[in-house]
Amino acid sequence: MKTKPTISIASDSVQTNMALAEVKLRAARVRVTQARLEVLSLLCAQHRAMSHTEMQDAMPQMDRVTLYRALDCLTEAGLAHKIASDDRVFRFSSGSESAQTTDEKQAGGHAQHHHGHFKCTRCAKVFCLEQPDSNHSLRDQLQETLASTALKGFQSHDIEVTIKGWCNQCSLA
Ligand SMILES: [Zn+2]
Ligand SMILES: [Zn+2]
Repeated sequence: MKTKPTISIASDSVQTNMALAEVKLRAARVRVTQARLEVLSLLCAQHRAMSHTEMQDAMPQMDRVTLYRALDCLTEAGLAHKIASDDRVFRFSSGSESAQTTDEKQAGGHAQHHHGHFKCTRCAKVFCLEQPDSNHSLRDQLQETLASTALKGFQSHDIEVTIKGWCNQCSLA
């Protein structure tokens, strides 16, 4: 049985998110297309990550390939990020996953996850855990831990942190 998520967005916020999406695309110097606008504004409107299926359901008029291409472009531009999960479903969320600087990008450096995620084990929704204090992120703490353990000479390329539990909706149910 497959239950389809219902996504309701108030019509006035659609306008706001569309405008916000356009500003973001322009700031990232990405060509503004209708598909990119729609996908980015949908992600901006959600306070959680969305899978391809959920996005497809929210935008039934958009064809699959167009959606995938728009997502690739947004991810490349750092306007969205892809989140891997143990259920093998990729989810996307607005915003960049890393605080990689332009210099690092030009040097071909590895992008590192700069925030953790929360996954609800009941409804499978994934949320980004943005850390307001980015000077000492979870990533930094884990890197310090790695450096201070017996594992000398180990170098981390990517740190993924997922907290599993029940979201605020599910913990009430
Ligand atoms: Zn939940
Ligand atoms: Zn995230």
